[in-house]
Amino acid sequence: MINLPETGQERIVIVGGGFAGLKLARKLRNSGYQVVLLDKNNFHQFQPLFYQVAMAGLEPSSIVFPFRKLFQGRKDVFFRIVEVREVDRPNKQLHTNVGIVNYDHLVLAMGADTNFFGNEAIAEHAIPMKSVSEALFLRNRILADLELALMERDAGERQKLMDMVIVGGGPTGVEVAGALAEMRKYVLPKDYPELNAEEMDIFLLEGLDQLLAGMSEASGKQAREYLEGLGVVVKLNTMVTGYDGETVQTQSGDAFKAYKLIWAAGIRGNALPGLPEEALRRGNRLQVDRHFRLEGAEHIYAIGDLAYMEEPDYPEGHPQVAQVALQHADYLSRWFRKDGQLEPFHYKDKGSMATIGRSKAVVDLPRLHFRGFFAWIVGLFVHLFQLIGAKNKVFVFINWVWNYLFYDQSLRLIIRAKEPKKKETKVPV
Ligand SMILES: Cc1cc2nc3c(=O)[nH]c(=O)nc-3n(C[C@H](O)[C@H](O)[C@H](O)COP(=O)(O)OP(=O)(O)OC[C@H]3O[C@@H](n4cnc5c(N)ncnc54)[C@H](O)[C@@H]3O)c2cc1C
Repeated sequence: MINLPETGQERIVIVGGGFAGLKLARKLRNSGYQVVLLDKNNFHQFQPLFYQVAMAGLEPSSIVFPFRKLFQGRKDVFFRIVEVREVDRPNKQLHTNVGIVNYDHLVLAMGADTNFFGNEAIAEHAIPMKSVSEALFLRNRILADLELALMERDAGERQKLMDMVIVGGGPTGVEVAGALAEMRKYVLPKDYPELNAEEMDIFLLEGLDQLLAGMSEASGKQAREYLEGLGVVVKLNTMVTGYDGETVQTQSGDAFKAYKLIWAAGIRGNALPGLPEEALRRGNRLQVDRHFRLEGAEHIYAIGDLAYMEEPDYPEGHPQVAQVALQHADYLSRWFRKDGQLEPFHYKDKGSMATIGRSKAVVDLPRLHFRGFFAWIVGLFVHLFQLIGAKNKVFVFINWVWNYLFYDQSLRLIIRAKEPKKKETKVPV
């Protein structure tokens, strides 16, 4: 059993300190419950800016925030760094890699991970971007391959080291493609004058007939126009079927050669063993009622990307975005405070956006679509506002202003974690 204070209060255990879990833990301040937050990392990650870390535009430390700092001085919130592995419902316990944790109420907020749709070969060779370490890995690969390209005499080999294929034309794929195209335009000629930036091809492959399928048609079209203007080759109606680390195969028989394929084509809920089978829905999400109670389980709730809630306006569940996760958490905190006396949850869409490059962004508000410089500024400030930590906000803002004024980024370091002789530890270091 993991050591936790027995305060005589009912215990709410929250698994996952992402947008949903962290907001809930913060909102339950002085609620009369003991709150225990469990996460496999000791920091919160701001996923919407992963692409800027991957493209060497931001330091990883400016988009993550340590949980312990957030809960300093709080006597009713306890954080433990563990990976939760199973739910034991009859005994109201969680099994983790360190030991057992008892709960009175359990909130599942583990989010989602990359979905390779069962394609083992793609999973083995593609680069996902669902954690800050994966974003850092991508940054290292891009920079390392450019260094190799510089030394390569064979033009075909050089091309494969420089080219990049991005699969998935949702916000992540579009933002990565745009940032990469800007890196090619502004950074490559300065850092690698011996390389011909024109040789670097960037392909964005999307299975549907539109980019940004979750947004308006106008935004999808505009994003495509922006990307093509930046020299990205956009291929719609293109289903990727295989990748062996060198050749990308598509359903229509086309092939693309590149040593790097970024997979942004789908996510899969991080459900756990021990949960009722009947609650599992498409994308491994967990069906909840309009109060976030898990179908077929007592005292268990799911929020954020992992939760699947049908309501009249969203018969196929809510979109898996930060705003939804935050609203879920806000509702559930009120639900606990009011002992379940609340109207059913209803998601209020506040709009969506995607940033393609400097002064190039699209924004959809419930009754309004706009684009260009103003949309870009709105995007920057929405992200700044959502970021946790005043220092992070300042650092990110300064970085953006610097990049905007000088067309340059300062973080092109290849820093690899070096593994010393292996010694087992429950908390990975
Ligand atoms: C690259 C990228 C870009 C995005 N851009 C945008 C955007 O621009 N706008 C937008 O609105 N949304 C965006 N999203 C989506 C948004 O980030 C998610 O909707 C949001 O993070 C969901 O919040 P969550 O709390 O449900 O899960 P997450 O934020 O994913 O948090 C889950 C937490 O659970 C922890 N965890 C998982 N499994 C376990 C376990 N077994 N044990 C312990 N801890 C565990 C994880 O460490 C993590 O801290 C983006 C996502 C990605 C990946």
